[in-house]
Amino acid sequence: MDTMDTVVVGAGVIGLACAYQLSQAGREVMVLEQHSAIGTETSARSSEVIHAGLYYPTGSLKARACVAGKSMLYQFCREHGVPHRQVGKLIVASDKTQLAQLHALKRQGDNNSAGDLRILSAREAQRLEPELRCAGAIYSPTTGIIDSHSLMLALEAALENNGGELVLASRVSRVEASTSYCQLVMADGGWLQT
Ligand SMILES: Cc1cc2nc3c(=O)[nH]c(=O)nc-3n(C[C@H](O)[C@H](O)[C@H](O)COP(=O)(O)OP(=O)(O)OC[C@H]3O[C@@H](n4cnc5c(N)ncnc54)[C@H](O)[C@@H]3O)c2cc1C
Repeated sequence: MDTMDTVVVGAGVIGLACAYQLSQAGREVMVLEQHSAIGTETSARSSEVIHAGLYYPTGSLKARACVAGKSMLYQFCREHGVPHRQVGKLIVASDKTQLAQLHALKRQGDNNSAGDLRILSAREAQRLEPELRCAGAIYSPTTGIIDSHSLMLALEAALENNGGELVLASRVSRVEASTSYCQLVMADGGWLQT
């Protein structure tokens, strides 16, 4: 039976990011992925938006992680040449009945430190997007777009550069945990201990 310091199960964007971060901290990391390629499940279906952090309740883990993760993601993209663009986003009120909701969302975004959000009048929004018909909008300048597959390839490369290992076609079928170690039972009958 092989022994590893740290095993991450799943090579989607989250598993790869966790593995990379662990390898940055000096841990010996192995990523086990059941398929023969990385990022073929949920991570292959992302809309590839880098969210600013407006939508989650203030103080929640999601709100804090979204805002902190956005800065870390932009920095990682710059340092590792991952295609991305901070294009900004308009969140629109289609008619006047939605304006109160729009202002409430702006307040929540401000409380979450989601970036320099601005309320735009219908005319100001139209100046940015001439075809737009709305009653008003929030402009979110820190929202962006990203090539998510390039991100995963960059995470994999950075992980391997730190000595981490990705093992494809390796499905974990069971984990047996005790207070001092974990044993991973592989679908092919093999065992791995951490
Ligand atoms: C339609 C849609 C649009 C989205 N748009 C955005 C967006 O614009 N911006 C954004 O930030 N987020 C977006 N998301 C959310 C984002 O895509 C997910 O949060 C993210 O991809 C989750 O990554 P993950 O690594 O947790 O999961 P996954 O990508 O599903 O990775 C899990 C991996 O684990 C592997 N695995 C599972 N079980 C085992 C096992 N027993 N043994 C070995 N391997 C195993 C799987 O094969 C898979 O590769 C969107 C999601 C959807 C569905």
